[in-house]
Amino acid sequence: MKKHNFNAGPSILPREVIEDTAKAVLDFEGQGLSILEISHRAKYFQPVVDEAVALFKELLNIPEGYSVIFLGGGASTQFCMVPYNLLEKKAAYLNTGVWAKKALKEAKGFGEAVEVASSADKNFNYIPKGWTIPADADYFHITTNNTIYGTEIREDFDSPVPLVADMSSDIFSRPVDVSKYAIIYGGAQKNLAPAGVTFIIIRNDVLGKVSRYIPTMLNYQTHIDNGSMFNTPPVLPIYTALLNLRYLKAQGGLAAMEKKNIAKAELLYNYLDNSKMFTATVPNKEDRSRMNICFVMRDAYKDKEEEFLKFATGKGMVGIKGHRLVGGFRASCYNALPIESVQALIDCMTEFEKANA
Ligand SMILES: *Cc1c(COP(=O)(O)O)cnc(C)c1O
Repeated sequence: MKKHNFNAGPSILPREVIEDTAKAVLDFEGQGLSILEISHRAKYFQPVVDEAVALFKELLNIPEGYSVIFLGGGASTQFCMVPYNLLEKKAAYLNTGVWAKKALKEAKGFGEAVEVASSADKNFNYIPKGWTIPADADYFHITTNNTIYGTEIREDFDSPVPLVADMSSDIFSRPVDVSKYAIIYGGAQKNLAPAGVTFIIIRNDVLGKVSRYIPTMLNYQTHIDNGSMFNTPPVLPIYTALLNLRYLKAQGGLAAMEKKNIAKAELLYNYLDNSKMFTATVPNKEDRSRMNICFVMRDAYKDKEEEFLKFATGKGMVGIKGHRLVGGFRASCYNALPIESVQALIDCMTEFEKANA
């Protein structure tokens, strides 16, 4: 049976990217060695990092004065690295859910960290509006896509202070005006590569402004100065990221990706908005994530959720169970998910609705 992979993360990658990774595991670019057994200092691997950085810059149209680095530790390590490197007195955070809260918690260990606004009152099912960024903050932190709650900020805010964004789950899903940001970071395992590598895009001039000692490994400058080679980088995930970046470029880049992602999201939200049985959890259309589409059964059918999950699993749907903090279902529709999978899910819901409504 064909599987439709809606996993939230680690998640679906293009089949050819996986196949080319498998080839490199057996024989890395005709060298007679596996990519698993070469030195990261080998002359073969430096070009991988260089090309990955170049493709980041090209696809995201990153201006001069920025660096791109690849580290281990996941996005969660960035929750402390950002304040370690940037917070002298005060930082500001927009609280849009679990990941934003975790980032805010870490900042509090380094100085004053204020919550500018929060959508906690409605279980984070919207993006707060009408707040102002404190002009005396060292930086302002946002989470552009809230993977768990299915909300997304697609506006590149004008910020009076350095803007820092966790883009773990929507990077490369659409064009971004990188010039508005001081730092963009994310774990690669949602929309770029397998787990194990974290990307950081950083404007060089935001560094060097805090007075504390920063441990060498947690200092961005270390990794910028050493081109992500200060210590052993996650070799295999970086290589798969490169293959995926090449694939994205061949597909027409981020404008083309965005078009596909809009089509998939519109198809599913449209169905949900017209269904008698299912409903989207995020009411405001402009706040709805294109990457993680959360939905539940309407009150009259709530007791059917488990049955639907079984039914859909039997039809090849993978990873559609919602996060426990939201319940219901979540269809993650990352770049590599074809629109046919979204249609298959809708067919599944339609059939279940007919039989049970
Ligand atoms: C998954 C996720 C994280 C955590 O990433 P790790 O790489 O597991 O640390 C952080 N932020 C967002 C928005 C995420 O989706």
